[in-house]
Amino acid sequence: MLYLVYTGGSHGTGPIWIFIVSPVTFFMRGLRKGVIDITIFILAVIAAFVIADNFNGYQYNSPELLSRIILSFIVVALLSGFYEYFRETYSRKLIQLAKSNETLATTDPLTSLPNRRYTMERLYDEKLLSDKSNTSLTIMIVDIDDFKKVNDKYGHQIGDLALTHLADTFRKFSRAKDIFCRWGGEEFLCVLPQTNVEGAVVVAKRIQKDLLAQPIQVEQEKINLFVSVGVSEITRTESIDLAIKKADENLYLAKSTGKNKVYSA
Ligand code: GH3
Ligand code: MG
Ligand code: MG
Repeated sequence: MLYLVYTGGSHGTGPIWIFIVSPVTFFMRGLRKGVIDITIFILAVIAAFVIADNFNGYQYNSPELLSRIILSFIVVALLSGFYEYFRETYSRKLIQLAKSNETLATTDPLTSLPNRRYTMERLYDEKLLSDKSNTSLTIMIVDIDDFKKVNDKYGHQIGDLALTHLADTFRKFSRAKDIFCRWGGEEFLCVLPQTNVEGAVVVAKRIQKDLLAQPIQVEQEKINLFVSVGVSEITRTESIDLAIKKADENLYLAKSTGKNKVYSA
């Protein structure tokens, strides 16, 4: 562009091409860098005009041409800048909105754990991965024991506090690849990739031990949470639905044989 200004292009029409610069610069460089680049460009265009007039460049006959070109260029640059500003603001808002929508759609609002829908999607992915890499994949269903009594005795708010306390306990024992999800009510589904039944039982028992060591403190009273756990490994030939059913059956056995137990048989 500066070369066109200096040489005048074809019969002195070279400077017309500089109007392309501002929309293209904002498009490629964004607003902040675009403003800097265009400011430098304007100064360079003025210099090219002056140099062309004083040295061997093109002799522009009209003395007003430089000021008219620069002023109209500034108007186009301002319009392009405004457009880029609104475009950036709008797209930032859209990205934020998409992120918060995604969080709302995949997270349980009370415990901030992943929800059932998200976890089922991930579980299918993990199953494919474990089949492919021939590694174990185990799930557990964790259900709070006598949770209705907690609600009845201390109220729904303390019940909610118990749910968040359990979620925090899960987070303590969760590896990056694990998914601890709120399955519904006071039931949680845990997905443990690269873990066999024995490994999952160890995790479940650690959670039970930690719940015992860390009761919920309500005013002067300490409330101990107990959970029953049903474990099931998703074998290569088994479907996810069947594994969930087995974990549910094991949970039922844990409940019916006295609660606060881990069942994997
Ligand atoms: P069990 O040991 O057999 O599991 O007995 P339980 O009392 O834990 O199970 P039950 O299914 O009888 O009751 C579950 C209770 O969980 C009833 C329901 O009000 C409560 N609950 C479910 N979701 C929430 C919640 O989001 N907040 C609170 N505070 N309570 C909840
Ligand atoms: Mg329960
Ligand atoms: Mg239940």
